[in-house]
This record gives sequence, structure tokens and C-alpha cells, in this order.
Amino acid sequence: MKLKIAIQKSGRLYDDSILLLKECGIGISHRPNQLKTEASNFPLEIFFLRDDDIPQYVEDAVADIGVVGENVVFETEKQVDVVEKLGFGRCRLSIAINRTETYTGVSSIHGKRIATSYPVLVKQFLQRNGVEAEIHEISGSVEIAPGIGLADAICDLVSSGSTLLTNGLKEVETILQSEAVLIRNLHLDPEQIKLLDKLLFRIKAVKKARNNKYILLNAPNHNLQKIVSLLPGMKSPTVVPLAEPGWSSVHSVLNENEFWEIIEKLKEAGAQGILVVPIEKMIL
Ligand code: ATP
Ligand code: ZN
Repeated sequence: MKLKIAIQKSGRLYDDSILLLKECGIGISHRPNQLKTEASNFPLEIFFLRDDDIPQYVEDAVADIGVVGENVVFETEKQVDVVEKLGFGRCRLSIAINRTETYTGVSSIHGKRIATSYPVLVKQFLQRNGVEAEIHEISGSVEIAPGIGLADAICDLVSSGSTLLTNGLKEVETILQSEAVLIRNLHLDPEQIKLLDKLLFRIKAVKKARNNKYILLNAPNHNLQKIVSLLPGMKSPTVVPLAEPGWSSVHSVLNENEFWEIIEKLKEAGAQGILVVPIEKMIL
């Protein structure tokens, strides 16, 4: 019994998908142009596919699970379950118009021609906002459409926005925030669900570890209470005495989001020799 996972064969999600599996301790060797491979130490078969096809394959149970952008899941409208957000491949689906044009709100799009590879999501957005526009579906290089007179606006994926800028466009509406997700077939059998749970357990441990850092510092005992109170830790921080009297070593785990703010407060409270180290896995 093997679980079959579909990932993008090349493109923006490929490296991070492979890295995630590797960090889950799953050994994979993949040669370019190889359509599928088997993990060496986990009952997992890996299929390499175009990202747009992944939801369909998962719906049809050709693959049991898959890694794909939420944008593709919503656009393809296939019957699959989103199991877990994966924390990479972040982008947004946005409407952009010529930089020189004025924009006063969604009604500015009324009657315009919008070029996009996401007709379903654009149509939903227009309907939600009671606006009518002509949707021109094109499969790639959407950003050049206004420049060549094919459309008045575009709706495309954006991360930094630099592609829009180079093409003389400005972003005016965000219609979706997206990141890579793990999807699953709706009718997995109990054996497959067991394997999926095993994989999910590892994915969650890797995600947690990525979002957290291990911190070690020296604290003067007279301010130890204050310093300890600043640190959350998994249960509570570890405190061990230093060889030098009057000092303790404090160990804890810090979340990436609150990291810098807490470090500043720790310094103010007299913490010294602060070391921050990455965590490889984190299991609560
Ligand atoms: P394929 O050949 O598999 O169809 P593609 O060209 O459609 O590849 P990529 O450009 O590799 O797809 O993007 C794959 C996914 O990466 C997108 O669907 C999206 O979820 C995510 N992504 C993250 N940032 C961006 C970005 N700036 N532009 C496009 N996609 C992005
Ligand atoms: Zn694609």
C-alpha cells in the first residue's frame, strides 16, 4: 500500500515541495523529465505534473493527495479537500490597469476587457461586486495584454509587483490571497488516511520548526523573573545556573513573528550573549 502524491514537475512550487518532503525525512531522487518516482523510506509515490492538472488528478484518485496553489484549487473548482496550508508559494491574484489611468473603485472596471488565466475567479469577483466586464482568457504572459491592445486590464498572480511595474501597470484590486496547500481526494480508504496522517504529522512538525527559533541567553539573576516572563517557551523556559555566581542561562523557543520585539525587550532587561538557532523539527 502506497500513498500517491502529485507535485508540480517544474516551476515555482517545485523546489519548496521537494524541500518540504525532504524535511519530513522522505528520501526522493528525481531526474528531470521523470514522471514519477518512489520515496526510499516512506510508502509514497511521487507524480510530477503541471500544477493546473493536479486538482483533477486528485479528484479522479489518480493521485491521492497533491501540492498546489490555492489559486489553482479555487479556479479549477474540483471536488477535493484542502488539508493543510503549507506556508510557501505565497502570492495574490490581483487586477491591474495601465499606470496612467485613474481608478476610483471597482466600477472603473465596468465595461472593460480583462485578460486573465483565471476566468472563474475573475467572474466570481465581478459578480460579487455587481460589475460587468469582458473576460479574455489567455494562458500566459497576461501582463503584456494591455500593452499590445488586447485588453484594458489584467488579472494575474503577483508577488513583488515588479512584473507589473516593468509593464507599466498598477495593481488596483486584490481578489485572492494564495499559498501552496496540500489537497486530498474525498474518498481515501482507512489505510490511505493512516498514511496521510503520518505525513501530516511530519509536515506540521516541519512547519512549526520553520516558524520558531531556539534561543539561549545569559541573564543576571536579579532580573531573572522579568526575563523569564518575556519568554513563552514550549511549556516554560529552561533556567540553569551558570558557573559564574549571579547568572543563569535561559533557553526558550520564540515565534518568528514576535521574535525581534522580544529580543529588544530581553536586551533592555539585561540579557547578554543571546544565541538564536534554527529548529529542525518541533513536536508538541
Ligand atoms: P505549470 O507548467 O506547472 O503549469 P505555471 O507556469 O502555471 O506552471 P508557476 O508560474 O510555476 O506555474 O506558478 C505555480 C504557482 O506558484 C502558482 O499557481 C501560484 O500558486 C504560485 N506563485 C507564487 N508566486 C507567484 C507569482 N509571483 N507568480 C505566479 N505564481 C506564483
Ligand atoms: Zn500552470
